Amino acid sequence: MIQFYSVTLGDTVFTIPTRYTELVRRGEGAQGMVCAAYDTVTQQNVAIKKLSRPFQNVTHAKRAYREFKLMKLVNHKNIIGLLNAFTPQKSLEEFQDVYLVMELMDANLCQVIQMDLDHERMSYLLYQMLCGIKHLHLAGIIHRDLKPSNIVVKSDCTLKILDFGLARTAGTTFMMTPYVVTRYYRAPEVILGMGYTENVDIWSVGCIMGEMIRGGVLFPGTDHIDQWNKIIGEDSLFYLHPMWWYISSSSPYFT
Ligand code: AMP
Repeated sequence: MIQFYSVTLGDTVFTIPTRYTELVRRGEGAQGMVCAAYDTVTQQNVAIKKLSRPFQNVTHAKRAYREFKLMKLVNHKNIIGLLNAFTPQKSLEEFQDVYLVMELMDANLCQVIQMDLDHERMSYLLYQMLCGIKHLHLAGIIHRDLKPSNIVVKSDCTLKILDFGLARTAGTTFMMTPYVVTRYYRAPEVILGMGYTENVDIWSVGCIMGEMIRGGVLFPGTDHIDQWNKIIGEDSLFYLHPMWWYISSSSPYFT
């Protein structure tokens, strides 16, 4: 029988098996809090994500199921892997919390973008992003919500994509949590809820790359309309516009 213990971090209680120690808060996303921990069994550092109320409505339940299923299924060095999953509840009637255990990375891309990156590191990060996305696309998965906060890196410049984006049913940005949805990196058709293809992820990579070069968000729209105005605005012509990547079928990604 697995023994559990509880640790309170801010408003969140983590109830985890005793094999995981040294819990430290690492970040928070749309789905819940992520902590770093030490796994005394495998003797490695891990990240533990507590999905916040995954069964509160159908959208959350589908997203949690999708993340869990895809994380287990997809095996690629540029996509975060699932090491373990558990719930502290002992019966189906009580079942409420889902925890995912992943490889621990050092920082997310938001933190790295602020640094003065040289050309070599920048192109290595970009290359790994494209390798990860290409793998998802070959598996028929379109992310649709790639952004610096769900891309994580290690100090040796290795990179992994964190989650699997918007579940098809969660295309609208309806959220129960106070978490703010970032639209800066979303392709126009995703924002407008139109039909989309894999290209929407290339749009996001273009926005991220532009931000790495420029050191600031390329299209910081305050709402849908403002986002569109920023994309087509005069200023955007000065930057390496994601649109060029996006419409260019001769991009190395496609060959
Ligand atoms: P998420 O809820 O998956 O979007 O993650 C929210 C934040 O937690 C990320 O932006 C990272 O800062 C951090 N994080 C998530 N997973 C990991 C991980 N495996 N290693 C390190 N930090 C992580």
